[in-house]
Amino acid sequence: MRASMIDVRKAEPVNDTDLRHLRRCVELAKAAVEAGDEPFGSVLAAGDGTALAEDRNRVADGDQTRHPEFALARWAAENMTPEERAAATVYTSGEHCPMCSAAHAWVGLGRIVYAVSSARLVEWLTEIGVPPAPVRPLPVAEVAPGVAVEGPAPELADEMRALHVRFHTTR
Ligand SMILES: [Zn+2]
Repeated sequence: MRASMIDVRKAEPVNDTDLRHLRRCVELAKAAVEAGDEPFGSVLAAGDGTALAEDRNRVADGDQTRHPEFALARWAAENMTPEERAAATVYTSGEHCPMCSAAHAWVGLGRIVYAVSSARLVEWLTEIGVPPAPVRPLPVAEVAPGVAVEGPAPELADEMRALHVRFHTTR
């Protein structure tokens, strides 16, 4: 597929542990769609790679701020020391939006690893005919320049695209 070819060329290394957590994010995104929410899922992992918390998108009830990355940032603030947060990684099916990038940075979390970039997601949604979001799809680096970011994971692109198509064409 044309889009995946572009991802492969631009891909940064995502290791086996990263891929395992990202696959869980995709499972959570799938569960979100099945519950009527948007296809996004995220996992918060400690510095040693242990998964500590996970969540999925929960906007179907009308609160459009209920993104998993935002929920995990608040969980981290309540349950982790600053040192633990700095050593942690947040894995996510789709790159953090500006709201979630800001929350991630404000609570001092460490690395972000995403499966699909915001730029790629915008391409997909435009192809599907979804109107632009009310928030600009800025990359994490523009909102939170001190946060290390890795992605995409091209091996997960087709599955994630299918979930977005499913969400936007079955409602
Ligand atoms: Zn968000």
